[in-house]
Amino acid sequence: GDDGVPGRVRVAVRLRPRNAEELVADADFADCVELQPEFKRLKLRKNNWDSETYEFDEVLTEFASQKRVYEVVAKPVVESVLDGYNGTVMAYGQTGTGKTFTLGRLGEEDTSARGIMVRSMEEILATVSPETDSLYMETIQDLLDPANDNISIVEDPKTGDVSVPGATLVDIRDEHTFLELLRLGEAHRIAANTKLNTESSRSHAILMVHVKRSVLGSEDANPSEMDKSSHFVKPPKPLVRKSKLVLVDLAGSERVHKSGSEGHMLEEAKSINLSLSALGKCINALAENSAHVPVRDSKLTRLLRDSFGGTARTSLIVTIGPSPRHRGETASTILFGQRAM
Ligand code: ADP
Ligand code: MG
Repeated sequence: GDDGVPGRVRVAVRLRPRNAEELVADADFADCVELQPEFKRLKLRKNNWDSETYEFDEVLTEFASQKRVYEVVAKPVVESVLDGYNGTVMAYGQTGTGKTFTLGRLGEEDTSARGIMVRSMEEILATVSPETDSLYMETIQDLLDPANDNISIVEDPKTGDVSVPGATLVDIRDEHTFLELLRLGEAHRIAANTKLNTESSRSHAILMVHVKRSVLGSEDANPSEMDKSSHFVKPPKPLVRKSKLVLVDLAGSERVHKSGSEGHMLEEAKSINLSLSALGKCINALAENSAHVPVRDSKLTRLLRDSFGGTARTSLIVTIGPSPRHRGETASTILFGQRAM
């Protein structure tokens, strides 16, 4: 992998440490994976003597700090957003493997625990100037809820820009405002999961950060705008550069079985399967340099359409657990990541 190439998805894998239960219950068993971060390789054990080796752009062990994860996975994306390009960071994996830990941790008592959402906002706030630039944030939680019709996705036919009229845009001036918004989003999400009586994350949590920067001088035209037109017209000054950072804590990727799910739950399960497989198809199409990226197949991919290809920069972090009991789910997460490369 090469992080200098926009349009291509960079893929990192992160292993979480064994939890207390796994330390006890699986004490006699080896982890289902073995990581070789220096070679950016991961070995998935088939049995005691055989394993399959995979390469990733980044391999993050259970000892990787939140700071390091931010630096290798998100920082290049955030920097390119500050330069006027769209950027996306997504976390994909089975429930309980660390997606929310990686992206959404607020780390209010312990700032070293802060996840990618908070760190990205901190970096953006530190760079934009409050007099001339503006920063808006919106959180979208209920994209998958079939009972919720107020989340619609609208595309501007001229520019291709995507907007979500049902979501609220919040003007961000300081760290306090965005932490408050993230806390609120998380509370909604916990409430929704409790209502459905489930531990797993049944929805995608999406944070969109809109950055508008004023740029003096015509050399510095909005790069993404320029790339859209074949002939370059010198724009008037001063210029405003608009870009968007999208951070996506995806719904748990574990197979949702039809048995045991009914009514609302079943509809939702179908919706999750559909949107994750649609996402997989788009990412594969990007990896294969295909001219056709099938963004129309789900709400999630329609929402992400201006994140795919072109000058946009995307990082995918796949999260896995070490337990041999979840080897099957871990294998399918690894394959999802591999197909994106
Ligand atoms: P997910 O969002 O994928 O369902 P969580 O982020 O909620 O998973 O993580 C599940 C549990 O594992 C949480 O208790 C979390 O604190 C812990 N955890 C996840 N990743 C790590 C990590 N890298 N280091 C330490 N604990 C972790
Ligand atoms: Mg979660």
